[in-house]
Amino acid sequence: MSKLTTIGETLSEKGVSRRDFLKMSAMIAAVLSLPRGSAETISTALAASTRLPVIWLEFQDCTGDSESFTRAYQHADPAISGATDPTISSLLLDILSVDYQETLMAPAGYYAEQSRLQTIQNYPGQYVCIVEGSIPTGNGGTYCCVGGRTAMSIVQEVVSHARATIALGTCAMNGGLAGAAPNPTGAVGVRQAAPSAPNLLVIPGCPSNPVNLVASIVYLLTYNDWPARNSAGLPNFAYSETIHDQCPRQDRAENGQFVLAWGDQGHRQGWCLFRMGCRGPVTRSNCSRVKWNEGTNWCVGAGHGCIGCDSSGFWDKRSPFYASVSGSPD
Ligand code: SF4
Repeated sequence: MSKLTTIGETLSEKGVSRRDFLKMSAMIAAVLSLPRGSAETISTALAASTRLPVIWLEFQDCTGDSESFTRAYQHADPAISGATDPTISSLLLDILSVDYQETLMAPAGYYAEQSRLQTIQNYPGQYVCIVEGSIPTGNGGTYCCVGGRTAMSIVQEVVSHARATIALGTCAMNGGLAGAAPNPTGAVGVRQAAPSAPNLLVIPGCPSNPVNLVASIVYLLTYNDWPARNSAGLPNFAYSETIHDQCPRQDRAENGQFVLAWGDQGHRQGWCLFRMGCRGPVTRSNCSRVKWNEGTNWCVGAGHGCIGCDSSGFWDKRSPFYASVSGSPD
């Protein structure tokens, strides 16, 4: 079991200076769209906070959110990253005490299960439960079992003692790919599987973006609550504006410059992908601001239309992904 050291102690042991700590706080405040003065508030609160115990459950998933979580993150945009070091993702690893995570943890079998139970016993009402993947309800929930127990029974037990719950990724939001028609396992998300999950935050995406995860957790540690959420539990700072409204290709769309075939002149010149099926106008996410893979790029930036992976029921509602869309993006 990890000792609950303060985050300030953890960073100090790693040689992180107060100046760098303030820079990190400033870039988190930028992601959260908080006023400038918030950086000082964040850094003071984080320094005094103990690392947050986490039980990370994985059910019907592809491990994409875990992969996303483990990526070291250095944003290419200095407005967000401040070109500072350590990075947003490294902060994530310093502020969390991940006591149970099936993909990453060293223990296996009996000892792994004990790690989960001990975290529940030692930190009741203090740990955060992160759920990755969908939960099957068909055939008594037997399509996904861990240690002889169904995913349904595990998630209900873990969230019942948690301080808060995060549904991480679109599968945990509402079933995702596993829940696509005909949904043979009866896959559902956390809200349906565990309606009593306390203080539920939903961070969709296929996979979810680790920047949105760390920003939300920093906010929780600073203000003792999640950032403002919409009625479905998604944080407004990340999911209130459409991809289209923030897209650097929007000028092209307004000028009627559309890609009409992969590899055509417009595609090579970065024109709008709406006619190639881009779902940016109907998808709400901050992808163009926070980007992916160490801030390198994002789907539209790489010349591929948005497939709406943050959307509820995206696999059924948004496919076929390359079908030309009629009308205009606005
Ligand atoms: Fe960007 Fe897609 Fe909107 Fe075109 S339709 S401006 S590519 S988000």
